Amino acid sequence: MELTLDFYSPEEELFLPLFKEKQVRVFVKRDDLIHPFISGNKWRKLKYALISAKENKQDTLVTFGGAWSNHLLATACAGAMFGFNTIGFVRGESVSNPVLAMCKLYGMELVFVTRTEYKHKTDLFLQRFESGSNALFIDEGGYGPHGMRGCSEIIAELKHAYNHIFCAAGTGTTLAGLATGISDHKLEHTQLHGVPVLKGGAFIETEMKNLTAPIQQLTLHTDYHFGGYAKTTPELFHFIQEFVSKTGMMIEPVYTGKLFYALHDLINKNTFSPDDKILLLHTGGLTGFLGMYEEFTSLNI
Ligand SMILES: *Cc1c(COP(=O)(O)O)cnc(C)c1O
Repeated sequence: MELTLDFYSPEEELFLPLFKEKQVRVFVKRDDLIHPFISGNKWRKLKYALISAKENKQDTLVTFGGAWSNHLLATACAGAMFGFNTIGFVRGESVSNPVLAMCKLYGMELVFVTRTEYKHKTDLFLQRFESGSNALFIDEGGYGPHGMRGCSEIIAELKHAYNHIFCAAGTGTTLAGLATGISDHKLEHTQLHGVPVLKGGAFIETEMKNLTAPIQQLTLHTDYHFGGYAKTTPELFHFIQEFVSKTGMMIEPVYTGKLFYALHDLINKNTFSPDDKILLLHTGGLTGFLGMYEEFTSLNI
């Protein structure tokens, strides 16, 4: 298969009473519709890594993630589509869950490693493959310059001008891409907003700088992590249930739930000016909901 993926990621306006009341217009860039398993930003982040692997005649993709990692699943699926072997180093003791089962279905070899071993990703890679071998190292979450480049293309696709663009952040690669795209297209009136889903999210700025992304137009909203990565509260689940049932648009508790919650909270606090146009990047994530479904069920919402 050629290394192209024709996809559909429209910008849709959302109409909710709060937006009308506060006179803001909210749009969503539906990257979640790109592919069911190479979800959202994960295709953007893999694209140039895969192109580089093909160019260098590498036939194996090696990457890293936690047991519910969207990135592992995306790599497994993309590997199957485009003719690569895939190996996933999984953090922590051997477990089984729907995401890892789907990784295996797509042919990924899973290697469980302790948390200490996981910290030394390059060593894990080199123990098995020599550098310059037929395998490509792809960092956890698709972090890196290839990932950033793929995400910068989002800006070129936009049909409207926006005052604000919002995105959830895990490694900051997607935000770094958006920041680069905004700067390349000289969108001086667009403010970029990141919502880190981990505690202590200010580190995202450092990660972006390490990728040489411009940060002049960036604001990080670091208070919407709900206790940390993959941590939730009943309030967050109630918000998600209300949002999904009112819009028909799936969001999940790990990334996009926190992103949309942050937006609602900031609108409520009158952060925006009347007639501001706001875009949220929907980065995907049905699998994030699968990982939390027992917690959701126990709430009896
Ligand atoms: C991986 C992921 C992110 C995080 O993107 P980064 O580029 O690592 O900041 C955001 N949203 C979803 C749904 C994801 O799966």
